[in-house]
Amino acid sequence: MSGRIEQLESGEVIRCIDPRSGAETVTLPCTPIDQLPAIVSRARVAGRAWAALPLPERRAALGRLRAAFLGRAGDVVQLLAEECGRPAGEAWTSEVAANNGLFGWWIDNIDDLLCPDRLSLSPQEYPKKRGLVRLEPLGVIGLIMPWNFPVALPLRSMVPALLAGNAIVLKPSEHSPRLGALLGELCAATLPADLVQIVQGGAPQGAALIDAGIDRIIFTGSVRTGRKVGQMAAERLIPASLELGGKDAALVLPDADPDRVAAGVAWAAFGFAGQNCAAIERCYVHASIYPAVLEKLVARAKALRPLVDLGPLVTEAQLQIVRQHLEDAVAKGARVECGGQAPGPGWFHQATVLSQVTEDMTLMQEETFGPLLPVLPYTDLDAVIDRVNGTDYGLTTSIWTRDLAAAEAMAGRFECGVVTINNHAFTGALPAASWGGVKNTGHGVTNSRFALYEMVRPRTVVTDAMGGDREMWWYPYNDALVDAASGLVELSRAGGSKLQGVRTALSGLLNRWKVST
Ligand code: NAD
Repeated sequence: MSGRIEQLESGEVIRCIDPRSGAETVTLPCTPIDQLPAIVSRARVAGRAWAALPLPERRAALGRLRAAFLGRAGDVVQLLAEECGRPAGEAWTSEVAANNGLFGWWIDNIDDLLCPDRLSLSPQEYPKKRGLVRLEPLGVIGLIMPWNFPVALPLRSMVPALLAGNAIVLKPSEHSPRLGALLGELCAATLPADLVQIVQGGAPQGAALIDAGIDRIIFTGSVRTGRKVGQMAAERLIPASLELGGKDAALVLPDADPDRVAAGVAWAAFGFAGQNCAAIERCYVHASIYPAVLEKLVARAKALRPLVDLGPLVTEAQLQIVRQHLEDAVAKGARVECGGQAPGPGWFHQATVLSQVTEDMTLMQEETFGPLLPVLPYTDLDAVIDRVNGTDYGLTTSIWTRDLAAAEAMAGRFECGVVTINNHAFTGALPAASWGGVKNTGHGVTNSRFALYEMVRPRTVVTDAMGGDREMWWYPYNDALVDAASGLVELSRAGGSKLQGVRTALSGLLNRWKVST
């Protein structure tokens, strides 16, 4: 397993392992658990001063962070190779270019997104009152992150959270600690001291962070850990955003273009060696084009070049899960159309296409997170939509067809957070598009204004310039008050020609109430 944690006399350390070779690279110290409360306290102090800055200053600071990030893009790509075995093509697109766009969108739109709502108050019911609903920072946000997108995932939460005025304590995965440290270094160079802090380690550090006085936890990871995180947060009454695993399906309709399907599905299944929460792990193809699509998918899978198109699994444990799912499928009658081997050294697994697959196989129900692609024929559309919806997960689904309008109409039938037509998964890189799921995939949202709403607290501020000692809701309660209040209700019920008469009557009632005792 890469990122092995060991207890030495000098303290806990992470031994980093290059998944391409299985060789140990460097050793990093873990953050001592007892330091977590002080880390969160320092972040809180830094966060208060940060939140008090005018928004243009926070925007400018995030612009400096963006420039620093782009200036170290080569190091990001190099570390992604060493820690995650990521091919350069994937590193540059998903972890550098996409993050440049992420910074740009939030910096350009944050003023509008944080703009307070002005309350529209009826002068009859609430005379001389005005109000705003402001969006204010939560305080200190804890991030516990996985290894599969070790730069993009933290940044998707950090950028809006910081712009909104929050401080951050980030615990990267123990399998990608050097990328976490690099993010910390960039923040330290461009943002106020202590505003973003990095906690290194595994489960104990993650649990200690939730316990250290944070105001929200944003967790991305497995369902198993997500349940524990959700329980801990509930006990402490802090909100938790949980973005968990997936079991995405592609649904290929009879009119789809087999060449586009094969190219797109092969990328979405084998890209990142399948270690994408939105990887296609099930592909349902209409029987009329099944042979053609299967043949083209096999050709695509066989053509993938190790390290250029297909990296290794990040951990040995992940490789074992892939092997177990494959062995279970083969034992239950699946046929390996291509791939199927795990050639060492390192944690590589060949891109593997399977046919003769049934829904009871483990690889059809549990998240594999590896380069296995079961391809299944279907004939009945309603029945296959039930099968697409038939797992415990619900992150994204894709529909492949030439009939775009029909597919858009069909999108509402899927139990998931994102539907993509003739493409898959890339929308995670669109900062304006919400990303999240249903069922065991959890309820957190990243990207879009809906993600921002998880990082702010609405605060209503109402000002009353009425003066005097009379207010309709105050004492004394008397008949005049009841008549005036019921008159207001009547006013909203009345319409058209009756309205003027009711207004006149109401004005009389209000005057009567004002002089009543
Ligand atoms: P994981 O659950 O093993 O670990 C995630 C993080 O939680 C790590 O930082 C880990 O150290 C920490 N952790 C472990 N135990 C903990 C505990 N008891 N308390 C607090 N923190 C703890 O997940 P992983 O293997 O790193 O990531 C892969 C998973 O992430 C997959 O299931 C994948 O689908 C999911 N994922 C989901 C999304 C999404 O958008 N829904 C995105 C990326 C990854």
